[in-house]
Amino acid sequence: MFNNFISDQKLNDILDNIEVSGEIIDKIIEKSLNKERLTLEETAVLLNADKQEWIDKIFAGAKELKRRVYGDRVVLFAPLYVGNLCINNCKYCGFKASNQEVERCTLSLDDLKGEVKALESKGQKRLILVYGEHPDYDADFIADTVRAVYETKENSGEIRRANINAAPLDVKGYKKLKEVGIGTYQIFQETYHHNTYKKVHLSGPKSDYKWRLTGLDRAMEAGLDDVGIGVLFGLYDWKYEVLALLEHTIHLEENYGVGPHTISFPRLKRAVNMEIGDEYLVSDEDFKRIVAILRLAVPYTGLILTAREDAKLRKEVMELGVSQIDAGTRIEMKGYTDDDGEQDLNKEQFEIGDSRSLDEVIGELISDGYMPSFCTACYRLGRTGEHFMEFAIPGFIKRYCGPNALLTFKEYLVDYASDKTKEVGDKLIAEKLAEIEDDNTREDIEEKLREIEEGKRDLYL
Ligand code: SAM
Ligand code: SF4
Repeated sequence: MFNNFISDQKLNDILDNIEVSGEIIDKIIEKSLNKERLTLEETAVLLNADKQEWIDKIFAGAKELKRRVYGDRVVLFAPLYVGNLCINNCKYCGFKASNQEVERCTLSLDDLKGEVKALESKGQKRLILVYGEHPDYDADFIADTVRAVYETKENSGEIRRANINAAPLDVKGYKKLKEVGIGTYQIFQETYHHNTYKKVHLSGPKSDYKWRLTGLDRAMEAGLDDVGIGVLFGLYDWKYEVLALLEHTIHLEENYGVGPHTISFPRLKRAVNMEIGDEYLVSDEDFKRIVAILRLAVPYTGLILTAREDAKLRKEVMELGVSQIDAGTRIEMKGYTDDDGEQDLNKEQFEIGDSRSLDEVIGELISDGYMPSFCTACYRLGRTGEHFMEFAIPGFIKRYCGPNALLTFKEYLVDYASDKTKEVGDKLIAEKLAEIEDDNTREDIEEKLREIEEGKRDLYL
């Protein structure tokens, strides 16, 4: 029913036939700073800009865009692995069916609730639930697990947004998930390059390129318009993959009036029995280029940076345009209740680079001048397409996003922060409050901050 809209030939032709100059790069960056999405050709210019002075321009442009548009907010979430049974054989993944060494497990609803309580007791409010691909993990199962997550409360803790990373579903399946109120439905194409896709997806439903590619068309058809796309960098040429991510974005925009809510750009990490060569591994420097170019190409799309990367690189990449990060991450099955601080590759999909606690990550964010946010207001008020709104409605960020970040961060400080984080965090809130120009908004926020001190929760504009 849906077409394969990715042409390797078309994207490669664009990449091969583009001219780069400092002047053209300046014009393209100016367009991004005016919050316009770039075309494939413009993005290809940025991808082909290999001279250091051009790369520096791109980094500076991305930083400026991030500062002007997203400000200093960084949204925090945690991944939660629900089940690692899998009938696919993705060569890069520790959960592939042929891997006998990984310990297989599906959380019972009680186990799941235990994990959720452990996450809530650290202050998490937003989760991404992750599933292998298996007949047991159908839409009904996913819906049951989402309901269990939302129902589980620990003291004043609750999960306010459950995003999903699972196999593509049919339209009926997505409708079931829409009913239980999921957040973003993420499907990473892993690689958009047809031949590479075939080589790394040996068997199982995931070996069908088109079924996966059109997975989010079916979500849109079902009325789920909050979707995330991504590439696993390290399988094929990163320049091609970035252009293909943009092609996917354009496809969604043109057909459904809304692009992806988020883009993810995981880099390949070590996994048990991984069978991928190192030809296309992405260096740290190229990884930064990927993030900066994506920031400029799709100014209104959330960019997610995960704990696959280490703390030092995460810090450097953040300023190039990242809007969401995970923190306090454990990806072993039952990793949050059974936390011994060590990674066990036999229980997880791949190795992570940043296993610091949520409180430690928040401490660093504050000292780097960021405002941690757990905000879920737009989604819960039916203001979907929040990133789009941030751009489309003048003053939206000042009026809503900034204040809501303060309120959700205050909750964290009162309920979960260490003494050290609380001290620097309260100082940051006072500074940010003083920066709010509109008297009415400032007084409103001051009042709500007082209410949070007195025990009220879940206040937002
Ligand atoms: N089974 C679902 C699927 O394949 O879509 C859920 C996704 S999987 C549990 C989450 C994502 O992890 C994959 O889409 C892939 O991009 C990424 N991943 C798999 N193996 C990886 C590795 N060795 N290093 C880094 N990321 C990896
Ligand atoms: Fe299964 Fe997903 Fe891993 Fe592929 S990436 S083996 S589908 S869990």
